[in-house]
Amino acid sequence: MAAHGEGSGAPVDSMVAQLEKHPISSILIIIAMQTEALPVVNKFQLVENPHSLFPEGVPWVHYHGTYKDIIINLVWPGKDLTLGVDSVGTVSASLVTYASIQALQPDLIINAGTAGGFKAKGAGIGDIFLASHVAFHDRRIPIPVFDLYGVGSRQTFPTPNLLKALNLKAGKLSTGDSLDMAPQDEASIAANDATVKDMEGAAVAYVAGLLKIPAIFVKAVTDIVDGEKPTAEEFLQNLATVTAALDGAVAQIVDFISGKCLSDL
Ligand code: SAH
Repeated sequence: MAAHGEGSGAPVDSMVAQLEKHPISSILIIIAMQTEALPVVNKFQLVENPHSLFPEGVPWVHYHGTYKDIIINLVWPGKDLTLGVDSVGTVSASLVTYASIQALQPDLIINAGTAGGFKAKGAGIGDIFLASHVAFHDRRIPIPVFDLYGVGSRQTFPTPNLLKALNLKAGKLSTGDSLDMAPQDEASIAANDATVKDMEGAAVAYVAGLLKIPAIFVKAVTDIVDGEKPTAEEFLQNLATVTAALDGAVAQIVDFISGKCLSDL
């Protein structure tokens, strides 16, 4: 660890290579909404850390515990200090991802949450997707190269064995800061070839990429974007049952991870 942060990419690369040969010992689960987070907290009997890792006054909440041989950290960005609603979206997601990685140095990040799904791309209510790629759909910068930076498309950490063993669906995830879908967003989502749409994934991926922590994205479909029902209504209707499915999937993923190395996933 002495070389950490020194020199060019070499020490970090060898660190990653080394980690890949050791069983995963610590994971960080990032979940945007309390309704999504609490079932996972209960399932693994996680407890809230009374000594916050985070700056005083921020609403971010850290739960932790051990399950089998893995240290599980779960971070939820908490309730907005002024309005009291869940701090959803890319800004909070980026901040908690950064602060949590700095404090915990996890082997793997799991961003779990609900998402809108496109039935034209094969999504149905309650489906659980593992994102193969993530990108943004509301960062339009029509200048060469900046356009690509805005979209920020990246491949997620590949987990072919996990995908097969748990029979999850694979698809691309598109992220933006709105729950609804403006026509320009719709065009970008199509260009991103996305099957699912959320408000955090690509932001978590960006920070995880910067700090070289492998990250995977587990998204449960609460609403069909290209269906008849209004998104907000359908989202609220399905939130409870779909979060139960999400929580089951997260538990299965942690079970699968237990005793394995990154390269086994
Ligand atoms: N009205 C909701 C607001 C939640 S915002 C409430 O009662 O709190 C939606 C959250 O679910 C975000 O964290 C986002 O990642 C996810 N999500 C679910 N369906 C979505 C969709 N169709 N588009 C974007 N994000 C969606």
